[in-house]
Amino acid sequence: MAFMGLGRAGPGFDETMMTETTSRPPLTIRMHDGDNVAIVANDGGLPAGTLLPAGVPGAGVTLRDKVPQGHKVALVDIAEGAPVLRYAVPIGYALKPIPAGAWVHERLIQMPSARALEGLPMATVAPPVVEPLAGFTFEGYRNADGSVGTRNILAITTTVQCVAGVVDVAVARIKSELLPLYPNVDDVVGLEHTYGCGVAIDAPDAHIPIKTLRHISLNPNFGGEVMVVSLGCEKLQPDRLLPPGSFPIADQRDPALGPETVCLQAESHVGFMSMIEDILASAKPHLARLDARRRETVPASELVVGVQCGGSDAFSGVTANPAVGFCADLLVRAGATIMFSENTEVRDAVDQLTRRAATPEVAEAIVRELGWYDRYLDRGRVDRAANTTPGNKAGGLSNIAEKAMGSIVKSGSSAISHVLPPGEKLRPDQRGLVYAATPASDFICGTLQLAAGMNLHVFTTGRGTPYGLAECPVIKVATRSDLARRWHDLMDVNAGRIADGEATIPEMGWELFGLLLDVASGKKTWAEHWKLHNALVLFNPAPVT
Ligand code: CA
Repeated sequence: MAFMGLGRAGPGFDETMMTETTSRPPLTIRMHDGDNVAIVANDGGLPAGTLLPAGVPGAGVTLRDKVPQGHKVALVDIAEGAPVLRYAVPIGYALKPIPAGAWVHERLIQMPSARALEGLPMATVAPPVVEPLAGFTFEGYRNADGSVGTRNILAITTTVQCVAGVVDVAVARIKSELLPLYPNVDDVVGLEHTYGCGVAIDAPDAHIPIKTLRHISLNPNFGGEVMVVSLGCEKLQPDRLLPPGSFPIADQRDPALGPETVCLQAESHVGFMSMIEDILASAKPHLARLDARRRETVPASELVVGVQCGGSDAFSGVTANPAVGFCADLLVRAGATIMFSENTEVRDAVDQLTRRAATPEVAEAIVRELGWYDRYLDRGRVDRAANTTPGNKAGGLSNIAEKAMGSIVKSGSSAISHVLPPGEKLRPDQRGLVYAATPASDFICGTLQLAAGMNLHVFTTGRGTPYGLAECPVIKVATRSDLARRWHDLMDVNAGRIADGEATIPEMGWELFGLLLDVASGKKTWAEHWKLHNALVLFNPAPVT
């Protein structure tokens, strides 16, 4: 994709004006030289009557309307029925004539229909020849199975929501009484969720939440230590959640016994405190083994990075997501794994994905996963158009077609080497660029990427979200400088500098790559600093009962 009109403001740009953001000269950003719209970059938008200066897309055009920041302005007259082009693709069709200089808002655009899943170009683009990127390392925790953790966390798996309150009390006690005794352990986390009982556990799609929970327990940040708290009578019994052979045994126990479990209904428990003491006693040997671990230098190829966006605006696809995409290409060159996701946000660009698949089999897997998701949405009588939020639209994203184009640039330009169905875990040989087929919901996407084996999470946001996970560091990338300024102690990276003309996409991509290695080595993100943790949210497409 050719990025045009990006970056520096035009000739005559006065450096002294940089100090006062409100007095910046009018700046528009166009994603491709064939586009007939550009977005307004200035904080606060631009008033009607503004003349777009020389050197910016639309130079010489006078704005007919006030155009809010991040919203589109017509660069030329667009006839009724003509395509509105952004990213060199139609994001919709003009419902009436749109003159040059007009604000192109969602009410002026008819959304294009979703591309059929038949007749797509399948693995038609030869994978780009990439120059390997050697010599980059981080300090991580090597696990027995070869995976590498970026944090050293004791996770307590739960089979059912019923035990969550008890586990909360136990986790608080472990944090205050035991963690000080095991200073190399970063944290203790109860893997709590709303699944486990009152659900149709034998329904065809029930394998998704069950596998998700199983595979989260095996996330590389938990060091292969598995302990379970169960109620006793729930549908999701411990040995169904973690069948023998599906998890590592760190102690000398017989694997046929299933996972080490504290069962609250066990007759040995008399009184609430006996349950808590039992969980604490069970945690101690796990904490001791985790505490004995030390970080060691490992190659950057051991990163398993999940990327997603949330609270998107029109800048997401201009600044943060292209920078993440550049970084994604660096990660692929370094031999690492990078996952992108969010079915409803890529659906309108499905042909771009199938074209970029490394093999026809990968292209078919993309079609299979997105087809399954189309049918899942059909059952609820919605389609992918239900994705866009009021905040997206206020931020300038007219519809899901426009949002998709801006979302997919997170994946960079590498060939897609694997497709991962929801709930599954990546095998060690599944490296490179992976499409992990998940819903776009921030919490569900993050939860499924944790199950896939993510050890680092990159999250881009334009409207702003304080999102974080207890299980894995989350690096948040702001799309706009205004957000980065206001949320200075929540955003880890300001990709808005790209729109301000202060950094290029490659510069931001390299900066992010460096930050990934630092955070993987133990540097805390803002979400970790403030202990901002969102709940695990399992994707359960099966019925509840
Ligand atoms: Ca999302």
